[in-house]
Amino acid sequence: MNKLKDKVAIVTGASKGIGAGIARQLAADGAKVVVNYASGKGGADKVVADIEAAGGTAIAVGADVTSNAEVESLVSAAIDRFGRLDIVVNNAGIYQLAKVEDTTEELYRKQFDINVLGPLLLIRAAAPHLGKGGSIINISSNVTRVLPPESAVYTGTKGAMDAITGVLSRELGPRGIRVNAVNPGMVETEGTHAAGAIGSDFQAWYERLTPLGRIGQVRDIAPIVSFLASDEAGWVTGEIILASGGMR
Ligand code: NAP
Repeated sequence: MNKLKDKVAIVTGASKGIGAGIARQLAADGAKVVVNYASGKGGADKVVADIEAAGGTAIAVGADVTSNAEVESLVSAAIDRFGRLDIVVNNAGIYQLAKVEDTTEELYRKQFDINVLGPLLLIRAAAPHLGKGGSIINISSNVTRVLPPESAVYTGTKGAMDAITGVLSRELGPRGIRVNAVNPGMVETEGTHAAGAIGSDFQAWYERLTPLGRIGQVRDIAPIVSFLASDEAGWVTGEIILASGGMR
């Protein structure tokens, strides 16, 4: 498929998990992809190698999304290497749940810095390079609809992303730039394995309440992002798309 032919994408947090799947999907659909990582250079290099082996084009670029200087270098790397930028996927994110009594300033600042400040820095750096047909996709979460207990900070970060998505769809719409969010339900990734969620009572509870009766896989999310990145979604902006098996 070539629906993203001639487009250039940056995917943050693409060394593993949902981000790696999105990078692979965008490349399979014809985009040239900047595979961003923070600490996982090996993972990002593997994603690039897989894309190239499948006939696609990608580069791995390290950048901590909470550092403005590193975010600016990330955008420069896309422009220097590929000469343009069309698609920005704000996927990098962390989830650390805690009871409100156990919520520290550090927990708050870390999650808001990565999950909210990071996307804002990248959108600010990328916006001057995005033209008509540009597409920004924010990976939020269905927690903004489910409101799980013990997730005030994490859910707060994603609530901010939903609101920012709506605001920027209005602000950037007149320039022909679309801004949408994809809000996954629970997805099996390296991150959810590390958090102990896979195989847990939480997963069983989650699946009982999910109309489609299962948690998600990365392949359930990546094609939605590719659609939103493409001109096929040319009249879709400001949307919050739940991809959660109906769990809301
Ligand atoms: P994951 O497997 O833990 O992967 C997280 C990715 O984010 C890694 O590539 C990591 O990079 C990157 N990252 C973390 N901090 C970063 C920073 N400061 N700068 C740049 N990159 C950074 O996570 P995931 O489960 O795929 O989740 C990805 C996104 O989906 C997150 O925004 C998450 O909130 C959202 N989401 C996930 C689920 C789920 O159930 N999995 C559900 C709803 C929403 P390095 O490894 O290179 O450090």
